[in-house]
Amino acid sequence: MVGEKSRSGRYEGLVRDCFRSGGYVFAGRPGEIAQKEGISRIARLGSNENPNPPARGAVRLGCAALNEANRYPDETMELLVQSLAQTYGPDSFVTGVGMDGVIETMIRTLVNPGDRVSVSTPTFSFYGLAAKAQSAEVVPVPRSEDYSVDPGLFIKAARNSKISFLCSPNNPTGTVTPVRDVIEILSEIDGILFLDNAYVEFCSVDYLPLMEEHENLVIGRTMSKAYALAGARVGYAFVPAWILPYYHRASTPFTLNSVSAQAAMGALADRESMEAYVRYVIMWRERFSRECGFPVSPSGANFIMADVAPWSGDAMVRELARRGIIVRSCAGFPGLPDHFIRVSIGAEWENELFLKEIRSIREEKQGAP
Ligand SMILES: *Cc1c(COP(=O)(O)O)cnc(C)c1O
Repeated sequence: MVGEKSRSGRYEGLVRDCFRSGGYVFAGRPGEIAQKEGISRIARLGSNENPNPPARGAVRLGCAALNEANRYPDETMELLVQSLAQTYGPDSFVTGVGMDGVIETMIRTLVNPGDRVSVSTPTFSFYGLAAKAQSAEVVPVPRSEDYSVDPGLFIKAARNSKISFLCSPNNPTGTVTPVRDVIEILSEIDGILFLDNAYVEFCSVDYLPLMEEHENLVIGRTMSKAYALAGARVGYAFVPAWILPYYHRASTPFTLNSVSAQAAMGALADRESMEAYVRYVIMWRERFSRECGFPVSPSGANFIMADVAPWSGDAMVRELARRGIIVRSCAGFPGLPDHFIRVSIGAEWENELFLKEIRSIREEKQGAP
């Protein structure tokens, strides 16, 4: 870790408070764990990545784009927007450096210091971090005991918020919010609803038809999960047309680089690979739920969340790391008790290893962590 203090101790006071106390928490680093545990092959089930390499077409177009990388990209990302329109039907799109980039720019477009931003929790932490960076007041709206969203409660909080965040399927619980609940929320709030659909390809709910009726809906998507391009950092969103020019004014001059944009086009063109991966995920999701030996919440995503009590999430993460498996503790997700882990569906060998080791941890210690 690089030092947090300047040598003279005079300058760290310049840093804004919202950035001094912790940022995004990442999953364990495979290299460090491999070295510490002396294991060469680490199962990476901590970040919900697609374990397969990107589509061939994605690699080909990305490489070709590098040949012209002396030029700035097209500022409107016209070609990528065209392929999105071909894939999903004509709609208004914005792009960003991952969906994280889209979230950040959307907040910058709408939120003044002191404005309220509500977030349905427990959920992905970046909404709150990005809102705080804009000096917003972040209002957490708790989900029900089964992690479903209570539309009435959400509406009450979201009514005087500039923008509200709802993740479906939700990270880390996997919960899918029914379309009728989203419609109810959209009709009752005055602000924007940012519906995070990072995992929507893995569930059977389609929120896109709602774009037609509702001018306060933004649907965030990413190429990082189902489309195997996490490293390329490509996110996009379906937006109401009125917001397009404002988004572009609030954004950095180029929303995305030309190499990633071309790779994304290549990946979008290979729908079959994506769909085969989705079928594979659904099969393994069921196996994890049945066979891991701990209660698992129903998931519409490429991961499951398991209640590993009496272990804490952190203790189980350490225990699995010792056996060469990276999973995510949910202890860092505000609004969840400390005894949950989130496990991504990985490659066959990773999944088999996880099932074998988690069962052996349970049997060896029989409830005595
Ligand atoms: C992974 C993820 C994202 C962001 O993905 P990018 O890699 O930034 O495109 C956004 N929301 C949720 C809920 C995620 O899990």
